[in-house]
Amino acid sequence: MTATPAEDKRASEPVEQAEPTASVGKNTLSVHGGDDRPRAHQSIPMPIIQTATYAFADTADLINFQHARTWGDGIVGREEYGRYGNPTVQAVETKVAALENAADAVLFSSGMAATTSLLLASLPTGAHLVMTGDCYRRTMQFCMTFLTRLGIETTIVQTGDYEALENAIQPKRTRFIMSESPTNPYLRCVDLERLAGLAKKHRIQTIIDSTFGTPINQRPLDYGIDYVTHSATKYLGGHHDLLAGVVVGRKERIAALRDARGILGGIVDPQNAYLLERGLKTLGLRVKQSNETSMRMAEFLEAHPKIERVFYPGLPSHPDHEIAKKQMTGFGGVVSFQVRGTLEETSKFIDALELPYIAPSLGGVDSLIEQPALMSYFEKTPEERLAFGITGNLVRYAVGVEDADDLIADLDQALKVLG
Ligand SMILES: *Cc1c(COP(=O)(O)O)cnc(C)c1O
Repeated sequence: MTATPAEDKRASEPVEQAEPTASVGKNTLSVHGGDDRPRAHQSIPMPIIQTATYAFADTADLINFQHARTWGDGIVGREEYGRYGNPTVQAVETKVAALENAADAVLFSSGMAATTSLLLASLPTGAHLVMTGDCYRRTMQFCMTFLTRLGIETTIVQTGDYEALENAIQPKRTRFIMSESPTNPYLRCVDLERLAGLAKKHRIQTIIDSTFGTPINQRPLDYGIDYVTHSATKYLGGHHDLLAGVVVGRKERIAALRDARGILGGIVDPQNAYLLERGLKTLGLRVKQSNETSMRMAEFLEAHPKIERVFYPGLPSHPDHEIAKKQMTGFGGVVSFQVRGTLEETSKFIDALELPYIAPSLGGVDSLIEQPALMSYFEKTPEERLAFGITGNLVRYAVGVEDADDLIADLDQALKVLG
C-alpha cells in the first residue's frame, strides 16, 4: 500500500479506494488504510507537522501555486495556511475515508464542529431538515436554536417511524434527513437502506451520525447514505484524550466542505490529529473486544433479577435487532439498561462499581458509566426527562477493552447493593 514519491502527486490527494477496500479486512484498513503517501524521514507514523503556515521558496513559487489553485485542477501539491490543511490532518482523513469505503473525509475540531459545519455549509435560508428524535442533545439544540434563527426549520420524527419520516418531507424544501444509528441512549437502529431509498425517491440527501456504529461495525455509505459523521472523540480516537470530528462522503462534496472549514475555522490541531491516527490503528481490535464484551454483558444483565430491562441491539429483545443484524457486523460497545429501583438506588449501584469511571462519553479503552438523568439531563425535572424517554433508573454503560469476566464480576458484586 506504499506509493513511491513519484506516484504521489499530492500528499493530500485523497485516494479513491472503493474497489480495494471492499476486499481488505478492517484491521488491515485500520493500520494501513489511506497510507499511500511518501514516508517523511522514513517514519512509519505520520509525523506531527506542527505549523500554522507554510513558506514559499520565492515569488515565482507563490505565483505558480496561485495559478494552480485558481485556474488549475485544484491539485497544488502543498499547503498554504494551517486553517486550509495540514499533512498530519490529511493522514487521518485518508485513513477514515478508507475505513468508511468513502472517496474522502474531512476532519474537524470536534464532533459538533463536524455536524454544525456540514449543516451551515449546506443549508440555505428557508430550507427544511428532518431528524429523528432519539439523538445527541447538542445536535438537536443546534437545529432548534441556531438553525431556526437562520430561517431553517427542523421537523423531529420518532426514530423507527418511517411513515412519519416520509410525511415530514416538504417537497422542494427539505434538504436533509439526518439520523443517528445506533442512537443514544436506547441504541435504536435506523434501516439505512430504507432511509436512503426513501430519501432518493424525494431527491433528498441523508446524513448518518455513525459514532456509535463505527466503520468497523457498519458502513452507511454502502447502503446509499450521502454523508456519515462521527464524533472521533469516541471510538476513532479511542483513548479519552482528544476531541475531533469527521464527515465522510463523495469527493466533490467533501472538497466543498473542506473549503467551508477554511471559512468556519473548525480545524483540528496537528497534535490531536497525530493521536487520532495512532488511535485509529487499533480501532478494529478495540471495537471487536468491546462488541464481544458488550454482548456478554447484555446477556448477563438481561438474565439478572435486579435488572428491569436491557437495551442492546445484539439482543433479540431489542426492537431493532433484525435491522441491526442486517446492516451491522457487530452490535457496538454501549449497553443501556434500567435497574429495578429508584434513581437513588441506581446511583448506589453505580457507586458500588469498581471498574468503570463515572463520566460522560464512550468509545475509549476505559469503561465509562453514567446515569443520563444526572448527566445530560440533570437540570430537567423528572417529567421533562421522561418526555425525552430518560428514566431515573436508566444506566448507560460504555464498555472499554477490560476483560469481560472482570467487568461482569464487577457488575455482579455491585448489583448486590440493591438488596
Ligand atoms: C459525542 C457525540 C457527539 C458530539 O461530539 P463531540 O466530539 O463531543 O463534539 C455527536 N454525536 C454523538 C452520537 C456523540 O456521541
